[in-house]
Amino acid sequence: MNIKKDLLSINKYSRPGEKLKSVKGIVVHWVANPNTYAKANRDFFENRKYGEMGYGSAHYIIDLNGDIIQCIPLSEIAYHVGADSYKEEAIKKLGNYPNNTTIGIECTHIDWDGKMTEETYNSLVELCKDLCLTYKLNPLTDLYRHYDITGKDCHKWFVDNLDEWEKFKNKVRDKMINNNKEIQKNIIYKNIVNFDFEGEKFGVPGFLKEGISYVQVRGLLDRLGYIVEWDNESKTVIIKKE
Ligand SMILES: [Zn+2]
Repeated sequence: MNIKKDLLSINKYSRPGEKLKSVKGIVVHWVANPNTYAKANRDFFENRKYGEMGYGSAHYIIDLNGDIIQCIPLSEIAYHVGADSYKEEAIKKLGNYPNNTTIGIECTHIDWDGKMTEETYNSLVELCKDLCLTYKLNPLTDLYRHYDITGKDCHKWFVDNLDEWEKFKNKVRDKMINNNKEIQKNIIYKNIVNFDFEGEKFGVPGFLKEGISYVQVRGLLDRLGYIVEWDNESKTVIIKKE
């Protein structure tokens, strides 16, 4: 998987430079423009800075040959799922403004049916696998089509072919397990500690041992609205209020 950084200039319309609050999900899009290259789509986002083409961007764009362009740093928000209203389920999991809590990936495609080349598809699987491992996300519940959040017909191929979407998520999960047997088996399948925080119910990776709940710090604090970072030099978990 080849990721090239080609960051947008900071501007009001496509790269506001605001901090991403946390990462609770990954959103898959299609560019809705058949047979265009990732670079052309990236430049389209860049040219939004002039203010004549509305708002919109994504963190990544996957090319027809599988190469990936990163347009926005993972510490910042992209404008990829903004809408007037959101599905209730999405708000429950991602908050009132899902751009604050998600990473957006645009996929190029050959035709109007949205079907991706094998190369694009494989890179999408790889990228989602890496992001799920980094942010401790469960591919079966934390990968979204744009459609799942706003109802928009995007990623069209996965909206029209629900079985393909399910297959895709399972592929990401299988890759994660192959990559990191020990941890991922625990995180994804078995060991979840359930919380009820002022009525909001959620599970966090962890386990119960001799009457003590051991839970993943990031998983819990993320859900409570804190930003969790790791300082490798001092081996310290840094917790910040949003
Ligand atoms: Zn979309």
